[in-house]
Amino acid sequence: KFSYAHRLGFGSGSPTGKIPLALKRKGLRIVVTGGAGFVGSHLVDRLIARGDSVIVVDNFFTGRKENVMHHFGNPNFELIRHDVVEPLLLEVDQIYHLACPASPVHYKFNPVKTIKTNVVGTLNMLGLAKRVGARFLLTSTSEVYGDPLQHPQKETYWGNVNPIGVRSCYDEGKRTAETLTMDYHRGAGVEVRIARIFNTYGPRMCIDDGRVVSNFVAQALRKEPLTVYGDGKQTRSFQYVSDLVEGLMRLMEGEHVGPFNLGNPGEFTMLELAEVVQETIDPNAKIEFRPNTEDDPHKRKPDISRAKELLGWQPKVSLRKGLPLMVSDFRQRIFGDHKVGST
Ligand code: NAD
Ligand code: UDP
Ligand code: UDP
Repeated sequence: KFSYAHRLGFGSGSPTGKIPLALKRKGLRIVVTGGAGFVGSHLVDRLIARGDSVIVVDNFFTGRKENVMHHFGNPNFELIRHDVVEPLLLEVDQIYHLACPASPVHYKFNPVKTIKTNVVGTLNMLGLAKRVGARFLLTSTSEVYGDPLQHPQKETYWGNVNPIGVRSCYDEGKRTAETLTMDYHRGAGVEVRIARIFNTYGPRMCIDDGRVVSNFVAQALRKEPLTVYGDGKQTRSFQYVSDLVEGLMRLMEGEHVGPFNLGNPGEFTMLELAEVVQETIDPNAKIEFRPNTEDDPHKRKPDISRAKELLGWQPKVSLRKGLPLMVSDFRQRIFGDHKVGST
């Protein structure tokens, strides 16, 4: 069994066990599970750009080859079709574990598969991290706070989650994934990092994933009414994907386990979001009210003081700046100009 520092050729020689920044830049071997998905593919772009070797592990449930095709032919890039519920043998330095459907429509499609992915999939990737001494980062979610009774949510809040509801496969699944991560850390000495990601949007989101930003943008472009669920007064905080990727990389490279909230504290009601979409795409877009889904959290907004202080991170892209970047990608994909891998 090797330690993370050992893997980088620095184990026994380092009195502190810490890895100097210069060595880290040598080019790591990194696995990104779920790397063909929305967030994963943007992360892969950044890792490849800085000179790392990246192995994407994805079963293509919600991910697409188009998201990573622009790396095909690059010797630093490998794509493996694999389901993380099955064991996997690889030799790597870091594991970014993203594999899991993220949109409610996708994760409710096969709830048992979702919880298996979160529990067995995370167990396997932690087993892998333990065996090879890799550092492991879990992408958890703001959903661990459930329908929060604390606002904004701090990492110290334990949450208000329905264990038997239709969202439980995802939020209880992620809570268990966090538990496993901490138990491998405490019990087996695995170096771990936990990110709690708040709603994120940007280019390469699935057009039909049912999430509110992708729905509104696609609807406005197609001249369909924007579907607001419930009274539209529920709130969310929307983070642009490049801010998230920066946060994930800082967390992985930093010295702190977390958990860390990674999100944009700008808070919007769904009606306000609809207005921003109208301003950005079509001021004449109509709004149509629909019944809300079960167990929908009423409000959500990250307290990011911990990430600010310990990771020196905060989001840079406001909703009004980020939305147009996503709109041009959606326009191309909806109206047939298939420029693959574009951002
Ligand atoms: P996504 O659906 O675009 O990406 C998930 C990827 O995981 C897809 O490529 C999918 O094919 C793959 N995958 C799913 N199950 C798998 C399995 N069993 N084996 C191998 N691959 C599998 O979603 P995303 O938005 O990119 O989310 C990435 C991660 O971030 C997820 O873990 C998600 O829970 C977390 N997260 C995302 C958000 C957000 O707003 N996007 C918010 C909170 C947390
Ligand atoms: N595992 C894996 N790849 C590895 C090492 C382990 O997929 O390189 C899986 C292994 O099959 C097991 C899980 O990770 O299901 C947990 O492994 P661990 O060694 O922690 O537990 P054990 O195998 O002793 O139950
Ligand atoms: N929502 C909406 N219209 C849509 C899709 C979603 O009003 O077309 C609402 C949904 O009820 C929720 C919020 O938008 O209150 C965010 O939903 P999403 O599925 O994007 O993410 P969640 O934060 O619930 O995981």
